[in-house]
Amino acid sequence: MAKIEVRNLTKVFGKRPKPALDMLKEQKSKDEILSKTGLTVGVNRATFDVHDGEVFVIMGLSGSGKSTLVRLLNRLIDPSDGQIQIDGDDLAKMNDTDLREVRRKKMSMVFQQFGLFPFRTILQNVEYGLEVQNIDKSDRREKAMKALSLVGLDGYEEQYPDQLSGGMQQRVGLARALANDPTILLMDEAFSALDPLIRKDMQDELLDLQASMKKTIVFITHDLDEALRIGDRIMIMKDGGVVQIGTPEEILINPADDYVRRFVEDVD
Ligand code: ADP
Ligand code: MG
Repeated sequence: MAKIEVRNLTKVFGKRPKPALDMLKEQKSKDEILSKTGLTVGVNRATFDVHDGEVFVIMGLSGSGKSTLVRLLNRLIDPSDGQIQIDGDDLAKMNDTDLREVRRKKMSMVFQQFGLFPFRTILQNVEYGLEVQNIDKSDRREKAMKALSLVGLDGYEEQYPDQLSGGMQQRVGLARALANDPTILLMDEAFSALDPLIRKDMQDELLDLQASMKKTIVFITHDLDEALRIGDRIMIMKDGGVVQIGTPEEILINPADDYVRRFVEDVD
């Protein structure tokens, strides 16, 4: 069974998306829809499965719909059409309580902006993430310490974010996401703000961690090198739609169209 099953998922921004949805069914382009209806297509009928325990990379140029897609996956925003199932449960049918449970137990998110509170220590930052998830106070300290240790931040607990480098701060972001041991990790351009060398270190670390923790990771990036390094499979998006899904080898050897080929040609 797929860990995440996405069918025909569509997001049109705006209060009355119907005209845009109709035009999408007629295969009209995002540009044409915008000019005729004033509505922006964020995600266009995306269909894919994410397997349990894989690193599933979503790649595409800026504006191709990656962030919208990941926001739909944890229902920060609601779809205009289509379905998402997590472990076989339909996300759209869940009430707020179920949804909180899913976010608490199953999914965590890491963003590009580290989002740390400057006046809280590293430990307090991670504990706060657990507090938001309604984890009992008595469990927070231990979970936070364990997560910090996991990402190599033993000894940094009492420091403040601005005492740490960008790479270290993103480790805190990762620790915060891992603290409650979710089965799914959503990472939206999590390493994109880091210097190239530190970024490579973080990619290696994530892969090291993944070898033992076996999460299901949805990793968003606009960088093909990064996608190829860390992805078990890569999904390429363009204008909100899915252009190709395949292993790194498949994408390199057999790009689906000129758009993908152009990405691939830039790889050293
Ligand atoms: P990416 O993360 O790949 O850069 P996004 O998902 O952020 O792409 O954006 C996809 C498209 O949706 C873009 O055309 C963007 O302008 C549009 N978009 C994103 N969020 C909103 C919003 N809240 N309102 C209107 N349009 C949006
Ligand atoms: Mg984005």
